[in-house]
Amino acid sequence: MRNEEMLLVPGPTPVIDAIYDAMASETRGHTDPRFVAIFKHAIEQTRQLFQTDGEVFVVAGSGTTAMEMALVNTVAAGEKVLVVSQGYFGDRFIQLGEAFGIEVDVLQSEWGKQVAPAAVEKKLATGQYKAVTITHADTSTGVAADLDALVPVVKKHGALVILDGVCATAAMEENMSKTYGHPDYKIDVVLTGSQKAIGVPPGLAIVAFNQAALAARKQLGRIPAYYCDINNWQPIMQDPGKYFATPPVNLIYAYEEGMKLVLAEGLSNRYVRHTAFGKAVRAALTEYGMKALAEEEAAASTLSCILYPDGVDDSAFRAALAKKGIIVAGALAHLAGKAFRIGHMGNTTEEMLKKAIELIGDTLNELGHPVDSAKAVERFNKEVLTSV
Ligand SMILES: *Cc1c(COP(=O)(O)O)cnc(C)c1O
Repeated sequence: MRNEEMLLVPGPTPVIDAIYDAMASETRGHTDPRFVAIFKHAIEQTRQLFQTDGEVFVVAGSGTTAMEMALVNTVAAGEKVLVVSQGYFGDRFIQLGEAFGIEVDVLQSEWGKQVAPAAVEKKLATGQYKAVTITHADTSTGVAADLDALVPVVKKHGALVILDGVCATAAMEENMSKTYGHPDYKIDVVLTGSQKAIGVPPGLAIVAFNQAALAARKQLGRIPAYYCDINNWQPIMQDPGKYFATPPVNLIYAYEEGMKLVLAEGLSNRYVRHTAFGKAVRAALTEYGMKALAEEEAAASTLSCILYPDGVDDSAFRAALAKKGIIVAGALAHLAGKAFRIGHMGNTTEEMLKKAIELIGDTLNELGHPVDSAKAVERFNKEVLTSV
């Protein structure tokens, strides 16, 4: 790998040489048949990823663009959305809704915990909600949503399930053909970005709409969007040789390469691998007196938000760790300074995480917090083995 540093922030995530090489291929015109073939393949791979009977959209943008596309194409001004929020990124849907005059209700869990399905049920019983947004893995807290519990509740009440997969897609199951207890109970929209568990550089917004969600778009007529209006993109997704707005040609090369790796590894293998990584990283860090914010049953397999033991200074820790080539992220909002966030997803390998655990221990020792790195690495190895 030609990376000089180990990028363990919860996105962007490590990019590997094959993806860099693809990205550095010659830029061609967006209607050049050689590019169109690659774009077409990328769209096909995205369909395989989500297994949807509907339509996928791959456009230039970030995860937030994808969130906007999901919401504005399904819910009109004045209609109601329930935001199930397990942290900072869940809350982003509140602002998005407000920007478009959508009525937003929120169920916000205590940071580190899940929103109880019973609370969602109770809320949905009080009124007509067009859609419910669920963040699959909230990147601020490391809390995962329990889709098996939430999807049936939402569908029973006739609302659309909009799933934010930005920090989960390709690492945690998001199968849109999967039924949740009833043949009609399925995830309606999944939105994601290229730079997290998919492991491609940032810059692509990816959204999948099932037939029910496409029907919702149809019903809306004109919407307050142009670039984000899926009606403008649908002809391009069906025939990538057509033009609406210039696709990011080199990023599409990178994404197509990244998706080849995702599908070659196999989705179910990836779910198992990420589960093992999450468990092993969190267990190993407890050897240092560190503790995950999320309860283990609710913990995301893609990233963890880790509380410092008493007396560890956040900036000093992250700066010293960065000097050793390991980059982790600070925590957000009221957790800033009290925790750090570590990604363990995408192209990240067991070897990399082992090294990171060791160097985190070395860093703590340097900062005057004596810990046993070897023991933590041993714990990591053991947990990885028992989880796979
Ligand atoms: C990163 C992230 C986003 C925002 O994505 P951007 O690419 O930064 O716009 C949204 N939701 C979740 C869950 C995320 O992890």
